[in-house]
Amino acid sequence: MKTINDFNFNNKKAIIRVDFNVPLNEALEVTDTTRIEAAKPTISKILADGGSVILMSHLGRPKGVDAKFSLKHIVSKVNEVLGVTVKFATDCIGDETTKMVSELQNGEVLLLENLRYYSEEKEGNEAFAEKLAAHGDIYVNDAFGTAHRAHASTAIIAKHFPTTKCFGLLLAKEIESINNVLNNSEKPVTAIIGGAKVSSKIDVIKNIMDKVDNIIIGGGMAYTFIKAQGGSIGESICEDDKLETALEILAMAKEKKTRIYLPVDVIAADDFSETANTQIVPSNEIPDGWQGLDCGPQSNVAFSFVIADSKTVLWNGPVGVFEMKAFRKGTIEIANAIDEATQGGTFSLVGGGDSVAAVKQFGFADKVSYVSTGGGAMLEMLEGKKLPGIEAILN
Ligand code: AMP
Repeated sequence: MKTINDFNFNNKKAIIRVDFNVPLNEALEVTDTTRIEAAKPTISKILADGGSVILMSHLGRPKGVDAKFSLKHIVSKVNEVLGVTVKFATDCIGDETTKMVSELQNGEVLLLENLRYYSEEKEGNEAFAEKLAAHGDIYVNDAFGTAHRAHASTAIIAKHFPTTKCFGLLLAKEIESINNVLNNSEKPVTAIIGGAKVSSKIDVIKNIMDKVDNIIIGGGMAYTFIKAQGGSIGESICEDDKLETALEILAMAKEKKTRIYLPVDVIAADDFSETANTQIVPSNEIPDGWQGLDCGPQSNVAFSFVIADSKTVLWNGPVGVFEMKAFRKGTIEIANAIDEATQGGTFSLVGGGDSVAAVKQFGFADKVSYVSTGGGAMLEMLEGKKLPGIEAILN
C-alpha cells in the first residue's frame, strides 16, 4: 500500500483529493473543522518535503455552479488550520486555473473550486479527470468519505499516474483501522450495530459474521429481530419485509457460533417525543400504543459486560434515539463501556455518521482508538466491497 511516505515531494506538485465537505451555517461559515484538520498531516508532510499542494474537493450537492456551495467560503478556515496562506482558484479546471497551478511555488497551497460544479465529476468523466490530472505530478487520495464512489477525482484520475499515485495519511489510517478490526483483530471481537433500519445494515452483519465473536444489535433495527422471533413490539419501528431476513441472520449466527445479543428490556414511550410517558418493559412485551426508543437497564449491563470482555470493538449506529435526552442513556452506556475497555488496551473503532455524532456530542471522540471519517465508505468496507477510490490506487 503506497502512501505519501513512499515519495519525496521536493519540487513536485501534489494534486490531493481531500474531503472538505464541511458543514456551513446560514452565514456560510464553517461550523466544524474536523475534516480540514484530518487532512493536515498529509498536506504538512508534502510542504515540508519542499513540494506544493493543489487541493480538490466537493462541497454539498450543487446542481451546476451555485455560490452557496463555493469552496471560497472555507478558504480562511483552511488557512487557519494549515497555518499557511491558501490561494483559491475560482474554477477547478480551465486556463486561469492552469496558469495559477503553473505559477504555484514550492511550499504553497492552492484550493480549487467545488468539483461538483461539473456533473462530469460524479459521472466519472474521462476527459474531466484528465484535465484535473494535468495539475499535478503526483496524485494523492486522502478522502475516505468519497472512496466508495467512482468519481473523476476519486478514482478515474488515478490512471494518469501509473507510478505516482498514493494514499494520504488519513485514508491509509482508515483502511488500516478497518482491516485491523476485520482481519488482524485480537479476539474476542465485538461489533455493536445500531441505527434505525435493518435493511441498511444486513450486508454488514452478514459479512462480519465470520470475523467477529459477538454482535450486539441495538437501536430501531432490534425490533425487527424481536418481532421475527414472536415478540410483541407495540408501535416500535419495524421492517415487516425483513422479518425473514432477520431469522436467516439469527440462524446463520447460530451455525457460525457467532453470539448475537439483542436488548432484553427497553425504554418504551407512548409517543416519539422527548416529553412522552415512558416505562421499562421486556423487549418482547411492549404494549400496544408504546414504542421502544432506547435499551433498558438490564440490556445496558449485559452489553457492557460483553464489551468489557472484548479485545477489539467496532461500533456503528446508536442503540437508541440519542438525539432526545430521554432516550440516550443506552448509547452513552455503550460509549462508557468502550471507553473503559479502550483504557484497558482494547482496540476500538467507531464509524458511521450517527455514532460519530453521538461520540462527539457526549465527549467520547478522543477516548476511542479510532473514529472513522466516512459513513457510507466505512459501511461498504464492512460489507466486504471493494472501494473504487482504494482500488484505483492499489491497481
Ligand atoms: P442509522 O442512520 O441507520 O445509523 O440510524 C440512526 C438513527 O436511528 C438515529 O437518528 C436514531 O435516532 C435512530 N434510532 C435509534 N434507535 C431507534 C429506535 N428505537 N426507534 C427509532 N429510531 C431509532
